[in-house]
Order: sequence, then C-alpha cells, then structure tokens
Amino acid sequence: MTATARSAEEQGAERFAAMPEDWTRALAVVAHPDDLEYGAASAVAEWTARGKEVVYVLATRGEAGIDTMEPAEAARVREEEQRASAAVVGVTEVEFLDHRDGVLEEGPALRRDIAAAIRRHRPELVITVNHHDTWGDAPGSPWNTPDHRALGRSVLDAVGDAGNRWIFSDQLEQDGVLPWSGVRWVAVAASPAVTHAVTVGDEATRKGLASLLQHRSYIEALTDEDPETYARSIVHGGLDQYARRNGGQRAVAFELHPC
Ligand SMILES: [Zn+2]
Repeated sequence: MTATARSAEEQGAERFAAMPEDWTRALAVVAHPDDLEYGAASAVAEWTARGKEVVYVLATRGEAGIDTMEPAEAARVREEEQRASAAVVGVTEVEFLDHRDGVLEEGPALRRDIAAAIRRHRPELVITVNHHDTWGDAPGSPWNTPDHRALGRSVLDAVGDAGNRWIFSDQLEQDGVLPWSGVRWVAVAASPAVTHAVTVGDEATRKGLASLLQHRSYIEALTDEDPETYARSIVHGGLDQYARRNGGQRAVAFELHPC
C-alpha cells in the first residue's frame, strides 16, 4: 500500500466519534503484508496495551510486491517481516490464507476462507483496509488496487456468512467450529469515508512506526529514501492528519459499520 489521500480531514470536517472500546477480541483481515502497518498498527498497539486481543489474517504473502525479488523468495521474506511487525504491536497470532497476490477475486472462494477465520477466532470487532475504488473522496483521487477492493468487500460480506449455519456448512463439521454472529462492527482503515477514531499515545505511535520499519526489504525496494525517514513521514503524517478531527490528538480513524 503506497498511497493515501484524506481530503475530508483536510477540509476540516466534523470531529470523529470515538471508536467503541467495549470489546475484547478483534480480527484484522487484509490482503498483504504491510497493509496494516501503513497506519492501523498504531491503533492495534494502543488496544493490545490495554489488554485487548488482536489476531492478524492475511489473504496473501505479498509475493508479487517486490519487483526485484522472485515471488517464492518474496513470500518467505515478507511473511517473516509481517510476523516481526505484528509482534512489535503485541500481536502473536498471524495467519496466511494462501491466496495469490495481485489477483484476489471478490466472491465465495475468498469469503469462505475469511468466514472460516471469523468462526475460528470469534471476534467482536473485525478490522480491514480500504475497499473503495479510490484512496480519497475527491474526484481524481489515486486509484486503489484490485486486491484491496476485492478483499475489503469480501470481509464485509464474510461477516454475515460466518453467522449463517447454512453457508459454508462443511466448516461446521470440524471439531468445535460453530457459526459466529458475534461480530458487532467492521472497521475499515485508510478509508476515504472515515467516521470514528481511536486516540494513540506516544508509545503506540512509536510501536506503529517500528512495525512499519519491520517491512525493511519491501521499503528498500520501494523507495530510495532512507527507510526511517520514509516510515516516519507515513506513520506520523497519517496520525497527524487525523488529529485535525480528534481535538488535536494523534489518532487512527476508521469507517465503522455496525453489524
Ligand atoms: Zn496492500
């Protein structure tokens, strides 16, 4: 993920509502290693520090994400970087669904694997990343990627699937797997239509920055800029931009869908 545009915040729109805090388990489902680290990871750090449990599920290993590295090697490197990156923000469980990077398709095959993860982990909050066509809401905003669009929309759909015993019923023949209709919200990070925010303190900001820096191979291939300088401008820039609608305090904002 390389582009963000948040024109609503720049226009000084109204103050964010607070993200719900009365939950204990969250499941973050995204397309690629690094998707969460471009901003949402600071919120995850804040939550895990308060004793909440967050699990990461990645649809792919991001194997098509480094131009100068063969996919098999990139998959290995990026999985390792993602696990390190999760650990920095207090996430110890990271799963990969093994879909192919770059060619994710919205639909039953992807929904099926996401619904299975929701049934296994039984989260109250599901987190994903921008599924809209563009990063910003202004005409001509940078175009989003096909994987992000397919993944985010499939996550929103799979929440309903997970609670319905007649959809993907074969999953329920496995020991202990039950339908799960306990998801109360889906929170979409990096959306052009953010509504709710969680304030992040200095420690969570530091961890969020450190988590992006774990993707060193990816960042080094992406930019000639010094990785620390690059990561700081991305993470601090994002948090500061949301601060404008959060009483001046650094925040991660989400588009929140109650379920
Ligand atoms: Zn991505």
